[in-house]
Amino acid sequence: MKPLFQPQLINGPFDDPVLYLDFLFERRALLFDCGNLRALSTRKILRVSEVFVSHMHMDHFNDFDWILRLMLGRGKRLRMFGPRGFIDSLGHKLGAYTWNLVHNYEEDLVIEAIELHDGDCGERARFWCREGFRLRERRPCEFPGGVLVEEPAVRVRAAVLDHGTPVLAFVVEETQHVNVWKNHLEAMGLPVGPWLQDLKAMVLSGQPDAVPVRVWWKEGSELRERYVPLGELKHEVLRIVPGQRLGYVVDVAGHEDNARRLTALLRGIDLLFIETPFLDEDREHAADRHHLTARRAGEIAHAAGVKRLEPFHFSPRYNEREAELRAEAERAFSAGKEYARRPSAVSS
Ligand SMILES: [Zn+2]
Ligand SMILES: [Zn+2]
Repeated sequence: MKPLFQPQLINGPFDDPVLYLDFLFERRALLFDCGNLRALSTRKILRVSEVFVSHMHMDHFNDFDWILRLMLGRGKRLRMFGPRGFIDSLGHKLGAYTWNLVHNYEEDLVIEAIELHDGDCGERARFWCREGFRLRERRPCEFPGGVLVEEPAVRVRAAVLDHGTPVLAFVVEETQHVNVWKNHLEAMGLPVGPWLQDLKAMVLSGQPDAVPVRVWWKEGSELRERYVPLGELKHEVLRIVPGQRLGYVVDVAGHEDNARRLTALLRGIDLLFIETPFLDEDREHAADRHHLTARRAGEIAHAAGVKRLEPFHFSPRYNEREAELRAEAERAFSAGKEYARRPSAVSS
């Protein structure tokens, strides 16, 4: 059974970092950063329900305007997350345009902006298109454990890090993964079909075993149905396993405090998208710019017990040396212990 999340880096590793996370069988996607989005189709952008902005440097926030333009007048609700200062930044972007005709839209666009601060607290506010995106309902809120999104099937956690400015790193988790044994289904005389999605949703939302599940299918033009208790299906045809976990880390300084926070956030995840903008030989340059080196990224991923690494967000200065960046990150990742004995890249 395929994993729920279908992650895709939208641009090449030297272009703006953007991660698009499509949900299998759902018209929904999550977007991590919104620098250059022109490689994403309109259809795909319109599927986005949440945008996670690591920080407000241009290469991570530039094409919010493009999302806005595409979503106007379509009755959308968009949730956006960012670090301290995000609500004001978004307000300034929205405030840069003239909205005197928006009352003509039949469908409103509502943007909820949410900031995460240090110490698991933050703020939220709403912008309503038909009010000219006037800021409303700004209030403080709490995010225990850094959890920004908590749904039956999906959880998104974040950590506040330092990049000379606050920056957020994220982990997306499929809370549980539900596999279907097709041969067991056959043995019970039940067909595959869309009802399996409802069954999975019932499992993920923790419904009691006695609840009847509607199994339906078509025979010619006739609709057939049967009801089977949820508990029986769980026992006979489903296998529930831990879900997939993905991390997204960009634009962070390589010092110890960041490394400690990252290690806690990323503990044991399956796949990590992490910036490797500079080589270790340029570690002072990386430190001046509050970025990781490839080696430091590999060391942190190793320390966190990450299963797989996907380096990206390379500095253009290495245009001809992409393989070196990848190799350095991979070496530190796979041989972390041995490598860490040498003086650390930018930990001072
Ligand atoms: Zn950047
Ligand atoms: Zn930056």
